[in-house]
Amino acid sequence: MKHTPNIPYQAPENGSSQAHGPFQARDCVICGYHTACPAQHELGAVRGNTERFMHASHRLWKCPACSAIHSLDQVDFKDIYSNYPLNRRRLDIFARGTLRNLLKRLRLAGVKKNDSILDYGCGNGVFIAYLKEKGYAGAAGYDPYVPEFSHKPGGLFDCVVANDVIEHVPDPRRVIRDCAGMLKPGGLLYVGTADSEGVDMRRLEPHVMRLHQPFHRVIITGKSLQDLGRETGMELIRAYRRSYMDTLMPFANYRFLDEFSKALGHNMDSSLDPAAARIILKRPALLFYALFGYFRPSAFEPAILLRKPARTGLKHFKDSPPDGSYGMEK
Ligand SMILES: [Zn+2]
Repeated sequence: MKHTPNIPYQAPENGSSQAHGPFQARDCVICGYHTACPAQHELGAVRGNTERFMHASHRLWKCPACSAIHSLDQVDFKDIYSNYPLNRRRLDIFARGTLRNLLKRLRLAGVKKNDSILDYGCGNGVFIAYLKEKGYAGAAGYDPYVPEFSHKPGGLFDCVVANDVIEHVPDPRRVIRDCAGMLKPGGLLYVGTADSEGVDMRRLEPHVMRLHQPFHRVIITGKSLQDLGRETGMELIRAYRRSYMDTLMPFANYRFLDEFSKALGHNMDSSLDPAAARIILKRPALLFYALFGYFRPSAFEPAILLRKPARTGLKHFKDSPPDGSYGMEK
C-alpha cells in the first residue's frame, strides 16, 4: 500500500470521538514537561488501524523532553473497548509462537508452574488460555472492559504480567504501581509496551500499527519504562528491547505482523479474519517477512522484569486506581 501523507493536524474528520480544538496546555504525564505552545514537529495526526477508527484523524503530541507520545483527543473507554478487535484474538499459530516467547521470558526469570500469575489487562484471556494449556493452573486475569475478567482478583500474586497494557491508559505510572501492589514479596512483574522511539511526528503513516489510535493513550521509550519500573522501588532484573513477538519461528515476528497489517490497509478487523491469510499467497514479500522478519524489525517493544523486595522496601502509593476503572479517563 502507498504511504499517504500525514493528515493535517487540525483537520477534524468524521469518526473521532470529539471535535478537534486548539492545543490545550498540558504536562507530559511521564516527565512533567509543561507546554502551552508545542513546536510544529512535536505534533501530528494519524488514522487508526481498526475498522471503526481507520478513517478518523487522531491528534498526537510528542514530548520533546522524554519522547512520550500522547494521544490528545479524549475518548470514552467503555465505548471504544465495547467491540475491540483484539478481544477476538484466537490462540492460533501466531499467538502460540509469540506467547511461547513471552512465557519463556517469565520462566527464565524463575516463574514456576505452581505460581499464581495475574495477567493484568488480559483482554479476552488468550495468554491465560495458553498458560493453562502449558500447565500453569494458577493463571488469572483482570480486564475492566471484558465482562469475564472485569472483577479485579484480590490477594497477592507470585507474578503479575502487564503486557501491552500501560500504553492503553492515561497514566502508565499508576498502572505499574497498581501491579506492584498486587505482588507477593519476592514476586515478579513483567511490563511490556509499544515504543515511541523512532517515531517521526512528520511521517506517521509507517507507524500506524504501533500508534494504534485512539487506543494507545501514552507511548513511551524503553528508557522511560525502566525509569518507571525503578521508581516503584523494585529491582530491575532484566530489560528487553525486542518485542516478545519477535521469534525465529515462521510468522511469529513483529515485522511480519506489521507488513501483513499494511497489506490489509492497516485494518486490524480484517487481519483477525482467518481468510485474510490468503493475501500471503498474493504477496511473496510477506512470505519473506514471515521467515526472516526477525532480522528486519520495523519497531521495538521494550519490556522490563522487576522483582519486588523479599521483605520491605517497596514504596507505598495511595493512588492505586479503584477496582473496575484501571485509572482510565472518563
Ligand atoms: Zn515527557
